[in-house]
Amino acid sequence: MRVLITGIAGFIGSHLCERFLKEGFYVIGMDNFLTGKPDNIAHLFGNKNFHFIYYNVVNYIYVEGPVDIVVHLACPASPVDYMNHPIHTMKVDSLGTLNTLGFAKLKGARYIFASSSEVYGSAQVHPQREDYWGYVNPVGPRSVYDEAKRFSEALCMAYHTEHGLDVRIARIFNTYGPRMRRKDGRVIPTFIDKALKGEKIPIYGDGSQTRSFCYIEDLVEGLFRLSVKEGIEGQVINLGNPQEITIKELAQKVIEICGTSSSIEFLPPRPDDPPRRCPDITKAKDILGWSPKVGLEEGLKKTIEEFRGL
Ligand code: NAD
Ligand code: UDP
Repeated sequence: MRVLITGIAGFIGSHLCERFLKEGFYVIGMDNFLTGKPDNIAHLFGNKNFHFIYYNVVNYIYVEGPVDIVVHLACPASPVDYMNHPIHTMKVDSLGTLNTLGFAKLKGARYIFASSSEVYGSAQVHPQREDYWGYVNPVGPRSVYDEAKRFSEALCMAYHTEHGLDVRIARIFNTYGPRMRRKDGRVIPTFIDKALKGEKIPIYGDGSQTRSFCYIEDLVEGLFRLSVKEGIEGQVINLGNPQEITIKELAQKVIEICGTSSSIEFLPPRPDDPPRRCPDITKAKDILGWSPKVGLEEGLKKTIEEFRGL
């Protein structure tokens, strides 16, 4: 079986690639290193089942030979990254989605789209279930990401209804773990980086906003199951860890585990920062038999260990 993964040099892509290789797949990876690093996949270059193509998936995509599964992950995921690259973000989750869907149709491949909890925006219901339509500001600073993900989801469903393409949509909630860039701006790498240096931990707002953090190993398991399970065409499934925590509690936990003397610095809130986010994972449990296994404390310890070694 052959799988094409876009965004392979990114945080999730590099881990997912390892999983497919371990299961005996031939993996073709594409990336343009916009937010990913060659280092994340350098160890795979000697593997005879791995082929890397340096490519911008906003352009027409073609690869020789059969492809059974396409996983479209390419897209800046950190708010700092996507706000630095707003137009690129919209292109990669519109033109990039269109090209990868067209390619999947040509090859008769199954298609997995990496969507996001951001499609729910500043959710008015809690926790978020897949049948909630979301509450998104279409012209706010996060809209380049949120609306591109929403457009991509609609495009996936159009390929499913018009062409019968086997599409599956993963709505991924905040995921963390080794290989995140120390400076990518997302909350966990930022807090760990600052704590290890004994610097102030920056919290936007009063820190009462919540997130629910999923360790990368768990997320990869969910994404893999979503990719290989038979008979679930057209499904939209939340993948995340329902253990909800405030950002202030997260900062305290990181300081405690790092064992540093960092203090907390409160900064002005980010515009349109969702106040609460937590997945309802009933569907993932029922359909994929999946639920996360790694608790926040354990996942943070593993991530901090890797950051210490960098
Ligand atoms: P990341 O930034 O680490 O990885 C994204 C990868 O895509 C990078 O390697 C980047 O270079 C590549 N890329 C960007 N534009 C490209 C283009 N035009 N052509 C080829 N490659 C391109 O982000 P991540 O955390 O690994 O996220 C992967 C996917 O999962 C994204 O689609 C993101 O929206 C989604 N997601 C992630 C999270 C999370 O918490 N990590 C949450 C929700 C959704
Ligand atoms: N956050 C913070 N300090 C940081 C980075 C993020 O307080 O240095 C907060 C941010 O305002 C948000 C939460 O942490 O409420 C998660 O932010 P992140 O950028 O990781 O992703 P988001 O879930 O907002 O997409």
